[in-house]
Amino acid sequence: MRYLIGRYHEIALKGRNQWRFVNQLKTNLRHVFADYRLGRMQSVGPRLMVPLPDDLADAIAIERARLVFGLQNFSLSYPTARDIAAISKEAVSRARGLPAESFRVTARREDKTFPMTSPEIDREVGAAVVDALGLKVDLHNPDLTISIEVMRDAAYVSAGKIAGAGGLPVGATGKALGLLSGGIDSPVAAYRMMKRGLKLDFVHFHGQPLVSSASREKAVELATHLVRYEGQTALMLVPFGILQREIVARTLRPLRVVLYRRFMLRIASALAERVGASALVTGESLGQVASQTLENMAVIENATTLQMLRPLVGMDKNEIIEQARALGTFETSILPDQDCCTLFVPAHPETRARLADVEAAESHFDIRRMISDAVSATEVVRLAFPPRSDTTLSTRVTESST
Ligand code: ATP
Ligand code: MG
Repeated sequence: MRYLIGRYHEIALKGRNQWRFVNQLKTNLRHVFADYRLGRMQSVGPRLMVPLPDDLADAIAIERARLVFGLQNFSLSYPTARDIAAISKEAVSRARGLPAESFRVTARREDKTFPMTSPEIDREVGAAVVDALGLKVDLHNPDLTISIEVMRDAAYVSAGKIAGAGGLPVGATGKALGLLSGGIDSPVAAYRMMKRGLKLDFVHFHGQPLVSSASREKAVELATHLVRYEGQTALMLVPFGILQREIVARTLRPLRVVLYRRFMLRIASALAERVGASALVTGESLGQVASQTLENMAVIENATTLQMLRPLVGMDKNEIIEQARALGTFETSILPDQDCCTLFVPAHPETRARLADVEAAESHFDIRRMISDAVSATEVVRLAFPPRSDTTLSTRVTESST
């Protein structure tokens, strides 16, 4: 039997709320391994013990566990008798053949009745590894860390600590709706908030039927990439072209972008209510484009009462691009499309919109009707990771909102 031993990231700091975070972490691990039968997980001190089934390959276990927020690091560990000779033997056999020249041993005793101290275990096991494999001890920068955790029932031995995703378990801090354009910024923004424990559903506004379906396909692809971090999500696709045309017909050029954005937020807020989301996440970054001046952001967010989260607001474009590359969304984001927002965009948009002017412009519209039309035309695509046969079917939002 193999165990994944996960060591908590910030969860460890959550005091009396810790059980909630740990339970969420357990649920998320079950989701990411939904196609395997994990054994009963147990939280022991600062770590989580996850029994792995035999048909789960090491490489898949590692690849999947790295997607789960809330783990600082983890290792694949093997139980052995609580006996120093047995522990040394297991350590040697785990380390044998690994591409390392130097190593260190890190023992921890959860059960202090074990007759040796942790430093004594380190020394004894270290000597056995040196003798058997000829590796060099390096306490500061080893190629390989051999971990030994002495528990009540057994000692658990692993060779190799794998960095976890950090952050907080998705779902532990609430639920929000991520506004996903086809661009570079919004997937990064979504990722950053998921890493802080938010469960996200997504909404994308597309220009169909006035433009091609390219932006919509990109949004589906981006959400399919992002769902790996949360197990399940819903992507709501809102046709926005007709509504934009209505705005164009009755609004002076410079204010149009601000009005598009305000309508997006209103529709997103109505959808958020249906899915139980209490905040909106965008990829806005101060000063990046005309709609992202301090004045315009204030006028735009005035259209919603939901909390607006803008995790990229203080980041440079280059920093965002670097993160998009690391996340793996960059290549999709730069594919050509026709975002609804490239439709009817004026050459000289207003950069300092005033709320009074915007409200005057909006007084010509039947706002409630426009929102409810958009909501009832919204399509929902359900996504899961690992993918399931019954997902990716799309429904109308009204059918799935109960
Ligand atoms: P991005 O790179 O994310 O597209 P951007 O730099 O193009 O952002 P804007 O077009 O001003 O900036 O959009 C700001 C934010 O508004 C986006 O990050 C996204 O969260 C949201 N947004 C913009 N267009 C759409 C859309 N078509 N559907 C959903 N959300 C959108
Ligand atoms: Mg964009």
